[in-house]
Order: sequence, then structure tokens, then C-alpha cells
Amino acid sequence: MSNFSIPLHILVIGTGGTIAGLKTVSGRGYQAGQVPISTLLTQINSKFPLKNMQLSNIDSCDLSEPLLSELGIQVRTGLADPDVIGIVITHGTDTMEETATFLEFVCGGSARNFGKKVVLTGAMLPSDHREADGPQNLSNAIEFAGKRDGQSGIWAVMGSEPIPGLALVKGHSSQTNAFFGEALPNDWVQVSNDLPIPLDNQWPWVEIITSHVGARPETITFLKNHGVQGIVLAGTGAGTVHENLAPALEQFMKAGGAVVRASRIGRGYIGGSLANGRLAKALSAGYLNPAKARIALQLALFASTQSGANPLSWQDYFARIVGLPEFR
Ligand code: ASP
Repeated sequence: MSNFSIPLHILVIGTGGTIAGLKTVSGRGYQAGQVPISTLLTQINSKFPLKNMQLSNIDSCDLSEPLLSELGIQVRTGLADPDVIGIVITHGTDTMEETATFLEFVCGGSARNFGKKVVLTGAMLPSDHREADGPQNLSNAIEFAGKRDGQSGIWAVMGSEPIPGLALVKGHSSQTNAFFGEALPNDWVQVSNDLPIPLDNQWPWVEIITSHVGARPETITFLKNHGVQGIVLAGTGAGTVHENLAPALEQFMKAGGAVVRASRIGRGYIGGSLANGRLAKALSAGYLNPAKARIALQLALFASTQSGANPLSWQDYFARIVGLPEFR
């Protein structure tokens, strides 16, 4: 396939994952990110002309923040290109939710403005498995990306049904139907302006801390002393926090650290404040699970450092993108 001067095409960006995976020689397991996107596309019958770009070929458990930045830049370039009808991204399933969240907040507005779709897809079985799910997923993703049905924005196709990017959840570690869409209110995304993309070392340092039986505060103190800028609490239940962790998180916030309260359950809405009054100054994660909330917090922290006519705080950005009622 020639990549030169293809008018009106779908851009397919390969990043790796099991969809590009091959069984290991020993026959035990497989390695993600082995087959080039140009080869994967030879198995697809597309009614749209395709142009491909190999951005990386990795296991998505190794995804780095600078690579996310590069992806965001390529997606923005593709969206602005009048010859690109839509964009498909092949991706590992382990961190697909985080990439979908990132793309929603940095490119979702322009995708909607340009009336185009950005569609993530992947596979649970490697490309040389006899029941490989990749070719069908890729084919469905390309078809959906090319449809002019008014549903522009960031999406994922894992199976036959498209899932809005922000709603995407990997809910099973091994089944081929591992993904589902969290039910979100229609007006959940309140920001039409895309947030700026942090480059290389501009990404704020944000960690996830889990609350659990017998939780201890030392990790929080350690992170605070080493310059972490934000902590997402993967709390218990509706975002509750162990009494041993709360004082250390309060100290961290007093010293200027950003804290967001999510739940390790990973589903459902985390809002309001806790009845026991703990972490009253933390923001809640809304519908975002801890991994998604971490990306949102990084983008909000970075946006708040960018000078503009009317700079907002990280809390302002976070509340807007997460659609919190305490929107300031
Ligand atoms: N570890 C793989 C990856 O995320 C899993 C997958 O793609 O299903 O790249």
C-alpha cells in the first residue's frame, strides 16, 4: 500500500498491543506489539482508502506519557487534514481507557468541530491465534470511522458496538468481550476547548494510592517529600478513605498537593463529600476510575500552568472536564 497522496482516506495509526501480537516460540503465552500495522491492514477489506502510520509497536502496559503526547499531536494533525475522513488507532487493551481519556480531553473538541471520529481498537487474542479477534475489530473500527452519521468524537470499537471513549471500561482480564461502556449522562463532557498537550517532562507527576484494610500513610509522606504533584485516591466503596491515610493526604493538600478521590471499584459515580468529613478539600472523580482520573488530573494540573488571558486553577479545569456539580 502506498502512503503517498491518497485523497480522502482513513488514517490508521498503529501503536502495538495484542492485536499486533504473536505467540511466543515456546508456545507459552504471546508477545504484544510484533506485527506492523501495514501487515495487519492486509487482512482487512475496507471500502475506504487507508493510509497507515506506525507510531510505536509496544505492549500498552509500557505506554509512556511522551508517547501519549506524540499520539495526541498526530491525531490533531490528522483531524485538521481535509483528506482524512476519520482516524483509527490500534492499541493494547491494558491502557486503552487511559488513552481514550487523554484523547477525549485534548482532541475531543476538535474531533467534534471537524465532524470526524477517532476510533481506538485492539484485541484480546494475538494476531496468529486461530480465533484472533483483531481483524474483525479493526474492520469494524474502520467502517465506523468512515461513517458520516454525525457521531463525531472519540470512540472505541471492541466487538461490534462502538463505545464512547470516556465511557470505555476494561472489565475482564481475559475474556474476548472484556470491554463495556459505563452509562454516562449525555451532557457529561462540558468542555468544548481541548486542553493543552504536555510534552516530554512537562507531564505533572501524579500517583495512585489505594485505600485498603490496614492501609499505612508512609507512601504518601514519601511521595510528598519526593515532589509528587498530585495523588488520586483509589478509595474503598464510594471513595472512602482509611483513617490511617486521611491525615497524610490532608497534610499533602495543605502543602499545595492536588488530591482527587476515586474508587478502586472502578464503576459508578463518586461525588459530593464524605459523611465523616475526611478529605473535604479533595475533588471527587465523578465517573472516572482511578486510572482515568489520574490522566485528567495531570492534564488539569498542566493546563493551570499555561499562561492565558484568564488562567484557571487545576480544580477549575478538573471540575469542568469531569463535569462535577461543584463547577467553579
Ligand atoms: N498487554 C497487552 C497490551 O495492552 C494486552 C492487550 O493488548 O490485550 O498491549
